[in-house]
Amino acid sequence: TEKFSPQQIQAALNEAYAKFKDDRTGANATYIPILGKMPSELFGISLVTVDGHVYTAGDVDQKFSMQSISKVFTLAQVIKESGLKAVEDNIGVDATGDVFNSIEAIETHKGKEMNPFVNPGAIATTSMVQGKNREEIWSKIIGIYNDFAGTKLTVLDEVYKSEAATNQRNQAIGKLMFAYGRIKEDPDRATDIYTEQCSVGVDAKNLAAMAATLANGGTNPVTHKAVITAEQAENVMAVMATAGLYDDSGKWLVKTGLPAKSGVGGGVIAISPGRFGIGAFSPRLDEAGNSVRAQLAIEYVTNALHANPYDVT
Ligand code: GLN
Repeated sequence: TEKFSPQQIQAALNEAYAKFKDDRTGANATYIPILGKMPSELFGISLVTVDGHVYTAGDVDQKFSMQSISKVFTLAQVIKESGLKAVEDNIGVDATGDVFNSIEAIETHKGKEMNPFVNPGAIATTSMVQGKNREEIWSKIIGIYNDFAGTKLTVLDEVYKSEAATNQRNQAIGKLMFAYGRIKEDPDRATDIYTEQCSVGVDAKNLAAMAATLANGGTNPVTHKAVITAEQAENVMAVMATAGLYDDSGKWLVKTGLPAKSGVGGGVIAISPGRFGIGAFSPRLDEAGNSVRAQLAIEYVTNALHANPYDVT
């Protein structure tokens, strides 16, 4: 059972919220036009333990798009269907050290060593979800997201439309990954499905439940549904530790020691394996595209709850 009391956990969240709520560092993403319109002041944090207790502070009912956080759960689906080796062979699991939509990284590695959490590897990962048509592929993707969240999630249609109208760079990335043989068929469809998965709406509580499912070895701690196996969850979390915050993944690991994943919608998830998952949200991003206040809040809670696995004191 959890070593901190419910009061201590709630206090950690309240303190994190109070400490960082006035931090105005960073800026909303604007390269997807609609993300620029999300009120920048929003800030929420939620924690779900492996025994299913839910904690919240701040704006935890606000829906926002998952963006790159979706990459985690599409990877889970592909590992579940095809095994980790298929991902390692086709995409790789090493950090690129480059920005998430780098085309140079593709050229350097000829489409390999891309990892599933930067756009080239993520679009290729989406292309690996099996199904006889787009509808079947999509229902698997949204299906596993729902299972992780323990509730039905829906696409934020305006976000999907906004990105679909402006994602020429990702279309180019998809085509390049096809040219290198990492996407086997219809790169435009893969990019389109990827764009839709990025537009799935969540709130901080949904994200915390999804993270807690990984923390709990692949079984949702609230619904008790076994979504993936413990070994598959281990694999997913390891890739998160490697590349979850893009080219700032090392900086993040030094601060918290926790596998995590961010998205340009302002969400960040982090996992204390065997203990809890955290979901935090605030739209303003730093240079690497990671939410400033979500990172600060998670770092604070990690320290308060002694969750850095490298901390043996
Ligand atoms: N949909 C976004 C994109 O492809 C996701 C990027 C992100 O969250 N880092 O550009």
